[in-house]
Amino acid sequence: MPKLLDLVLSTEAGKRTRLSQALLAVALMATGVLVMNAYARFGIAPARPVWIWSAVSLGGLLVIFALIRSGWSHRLEDASMTVPQMVFSIGSGAAAYALAGAGRGGVFPIVMVVLVFGVFVASPAQMRAISAYAVAIFGAAMAWMSWRQPAVYPPLVELGHFVMVATMVPATAVLAGRLSRLRHRARQHSSELKEALNRIRELATRDELTGLINRRHMHELVEQEHQRCTRSGLTFCVAMLDLDHFKQINDNHGHAAGDDMLRAVAQEAQRHVRAADVLARWGGEEFVLMMPEARAALARGGLERLRERIGALQILHRGNRLGITLSAGLAEHHAGETVAQTLERADRALYEAKAQGRNRVVVAV
Ligand code: GH3
Ligand code: MG
Ligand code: MG
Repeated sequence: MPKLLDLVLSTEAGKRTRLSQALLAVALMATGVLVMNAYARFGIAPARPVWIWSAVSLGGLLVIFALIRSGWSHRLEDASMTVPQMVFSIGSGAAAYALAGAGRGGVFPIVMVVLVFGVFVASPAQMRAISAYAVAIFGAAMAWMSWRQPAVYPPLVELGHFVMVATMVPATAVLAGRLSRLRHRARQHSSELKEALNRIRELATRDELTGLINRRHMHELVEQEHQRCTRSGLTFCVAMLDLDHFKQINDNHGHAAGDDMLRAVAQEAQRHVRAADVLARWGGEEFVLMMPEARAALARGGLERLRERIGALQILHRGNRLGITLSAGLAEHHAGETVAQTLERADRALYEAKAQGRNRVVVAV
């Protein structure tokens, strides 16, 4: 049974909802067809017209079901084809009204149910148009039948029916329109929330000045890499990077020049690290570079090239060309040590690089 349902309704979530909705419409129509044929059987309704009506009504909804099932309706703005289904079903309801004779009272609830289908997709304007169409087509059926068969459709009774349809149907449309506006607002709220959540995530993980990952997020990423390496038996490297005599840039050219330099260094470094490497702003003018699945020898080569790139970098500030150099301490993670211990060794190697005269890479023992 579940297999059969998958076959009929497909397994795509959105399509499945659309198809189960269309299948419900078919089932409701089938009930109407059953009742109409019973009327025909007992002489309340004319047999041949009821058969034709049954075939057209059920066939029409089945065609719409097939258009959704085959994926054809995807090219439409509303892939559920709810509005065409509503227009078709209301037309079929009006025809049933004209055929059902004394049994025509059963048609009214159908019109209401059809309008409820619109709540899920139709806009307020579409609901107004559909209700106007329903009032017009039912009004026409009532007028026509009270003229052709006044004995079965007495004009006064038909007038009463018309007054009811002409007030109840638009009222339903107004309520449905209100729901549709609520639905629209809820969707808007949810997309705003999603946007805000993305922004918060961005703020929580990024450094605002450079756009690099911030220290807190880097801690998480290094910790993840550590766990991955523990499982795989591979290793990774971390490097502490610190700009040399950065304070002089601030002192000689102002804080804005320092900021420009930090941004330029971050951009240039990001461009020259491997795709798998992760660069973060650790604080002030310090950065941390994590190199997954790399041994110290390989990491050192990359780091030397990065140091040369930064050394060659120049920014233009108020007509002055400013340059900077970089010192780095590199540590390969040793099996059994914590992330904090690896970072500490990298930090000591950085200190050593500064002590040896700056603008160099020192590998931690
Ligand atoms: P060393 O070669 O020993 O690293 O010398 P240094 O001058 O780079 O190091 P120090 O730690 O003495 O100075 C770092 C300076 O970085 C001090 C601080 O004002 C500056 N700084 C930290 N964060 C920022 C920032 O976001 N923008 C700017 N413009 N300056 C910053
Ligand atoms: Mg520093
Ligand atoms: Mg420094």
